[in-house]
Amino acid sequence: MLIVSEETCQKVVTRKAAYDAVEAVFGAMARGDAWNFPVVREAIGHADALYGFKSGFDRAGLTLGVKAGGYWPHNMDRGLTNHQSTVFLFDPDTGQLAALVGGNYLTAVRTAASSAISINHLARKDARVLGMVGAGHQAQFQLRAAAEQRDFERVIAWNYHPDMLPSLGKVAAELGLPFEAVEREQLGAEADVIVSITSAHDALLMKGWIKPGTHIACMGTDTKGKQELDPELVAAATVFTDEIAQSITIGETQHAVAAGLLAEDDITPIGMVINGDHPGRTSDDEITLFDGTGVGLQDLAVASVAARLAQEQGEAAEVAL
Ligand code: NAD
Repeated sequence: MLIVSEETCQKVVTRKAAYDAVEAVFGAMARGDAWNFPVVREAIGHADALYGFKSGFDRAGLTLGVKAGGYWPHNMDRGLTNHQSTVFLFDPDTGQLAALVGGNYLTAVRTAASSAISINHLARKDARVLGMVGAGHQAQFQLRAAAEQRDFERVIAWNYHPDMLPSLGKVAAELGLPFEAVEREQLGAEADVIVSITSAHDALLMKGWIKPGTHIACMGTDTKGKQELDPELVAAATVFTDEIAQSITIGETQHAVAAGLLAEDDITPIGMVINGDHPGRTSDDEITLFDGTGVGLQDLAVASVAARLAQEQGEAAEVAL
């Protein structure tokens, strides 16, 4: 059995490796070769923590496992990340534990890979202005991955807490991209691609602000009650997601579906575009939306890569079961 630390995950799993692993598993999901199992998420009545499991099986990649963890809101005071998780991988032939892999860095890199995949497959090729909504922990990973997908010339950003924007600006500077803090209306009017990654519970971007042809990767809404977009905007867009069942229950489309503005049948798994079974964007004026809800199979895919690379590079600890 392998043990792969957080530090090792950061060392061995590149953005490219995460992108390839997540793209492959989205394709497998759309072919019916990989399944996510029902998500468990519970308030444990201690430390105000939310704890749960995301799990699944990828028959194509032979990856079976579970990500266990959640959200401990007081961790910051202890110098720890609030989101904590660990991935357990099992041998699908025997059920024996195969690897324990740190899940914190992998969660960020697999989430960023997911929006990057949507940009690669759905954004206009001539997209030049990247709009960021959100400037927290995930936003920096999102910006780095998104910036690799098109020849962006500048980054514009808005955040609910403006004091957090300079740290995102530093990442843009590292990438050689001019960075400007703007109001949301300006962001909608100028951005060709928008990534939203906040913990908002109300619509932040309204339909009338978004110009035709924009691609939006909506990544923050991963729980019932969270919201980043005007439901009218969701209804007006061509909507793609990682998994429809999650999108309509805990993802961004929950609000448009509840309002009767969008039907389940209007939503396409991004894996169908990856597999060439759906054309994706069909016109330059279309607004495309990717609702990235975050599925367990993404975690298992990147954890499996981490375990393999760590073993190959002599970075994994081996323990007898
Ligand atoms: P974080 O706590 O580091 O940052 C939170 C961000 O949300 C900041 O930009 C903050 O200013 C903003 N924010 C807080 N309250 C707000 C409000 N009322 N209105 C608008 N913005 C507000 O969190 P993070 O780790 O960067 O995660 C951001 C979001 O992404 C969370 O909702 C998290 O659950 C979600 N997430 C999604 C996935 C996925 O796969 N889709 C994966 C990981 C995290």
